[in-house]
Amino acid sequence: MIVKLLAYTQNADAVCAAAGRSCYSEEPAHDLLGTGDPEKSLGRIVGMGHHSVIEHASFTFSVEGVSRALTHQLVRHRIASFSQQSQRYVSMKDATYVTPHTVSEDPEREKLFGETMDEIWNAYNKLVESGVPAEDARYLLPNGCTTNITITMNARELLHFFSLRCCTRAQWEIREMADEMLRLCSDVSPTIFAKAGPPCVRGPCPEGQKSCGSPRRKK
Ligand SMILES: Cc1cc2nc3c(=O)[nH]c(=O)nc-3n(C[C@H](O)[C@H](O)[C@H](O)COP(=O)(O)OP(=O)(O)OC[C@H]3O[C@@H](n4cnc5c(N)ncnc54)[C@H](O)[C@@H]3O)c2cc1C
Repeated sequence: MIVKLLAYTQNADAVCAAAGRSCYSEEPAHDLLGTGDPEKSLGRIVGMGHHSVIEHASFTFSVEGVSRALTHQLVRHRIASFSQQSQRYVSMKDATYVTPHTVSEDPEREKLFGETMDEIWNAYNKLVESGVPAEDARYLLPNGCTTNITITMNARELLHFFSLRCCTRAQWEIREMADEMLRLCSDVSPTIFAKAGPPCVRGPCPEGQKSCGSPRRKK
């Protein structure tokens, strides 16, 4: 998979810090921008759980080569915007799919998986060639089929998303993508994302008996 940060709110830490401070100041945010220490003020506000101020920061990602199994989970996040490659308008004639590690680590499993994918795509191409529209032939295509998707979330939703999807309880593929998104966000907005990640980064694991038992708490 390829995950790129396509666009983001410039100086997001400073913008959100100024927005937060403007709640308690006679000055408007535009006069507060660039003054004070965003790490201190924003860190305190976000630490208290006042997450509405970080809704002012927006992040857009371009993701390539993930499975439709991943995007099906991803689009359950409702406070986000998505634009996904269409299986109606884009030809799916080439067999492109994600192979899970549990399959690729064993030659026999990989062979079975690959042969089944070839069969599926042969049938898909035959249907399309016989005149079935791509929008109908795609009913054959598997969950593993690759896709591209553009994602926009504000920082508040991203914190929630990272909490759920960077956790080991999340599936490996979406976790891999979420970890990379978090890395990209932390590079440009270190204060907002200082404590981002699964709940165990910030405190006790809420997963009870399903806990992996390996907290990622930052020292
Ligand atoms: C490990 C894991 C396993 C999962 N397994 C399943 C499964 O087996 N089956 C399944 O169907 N789903 C499953 N899900 C998906 C999960 O139930 C959520 O749909 C998904 O994680 C989106 O999260 P969300 O609803 O909290 O947040 P978002 O949609 O991202 O929304 C963010 C927050 O906004 C608020 N919000 C959004 N919409 C509303 C609303 N309509 N009313 C009130 N508040 C709202 C809530 O506080 C919510 O937490 C799983 C998710 C994870 C992480």
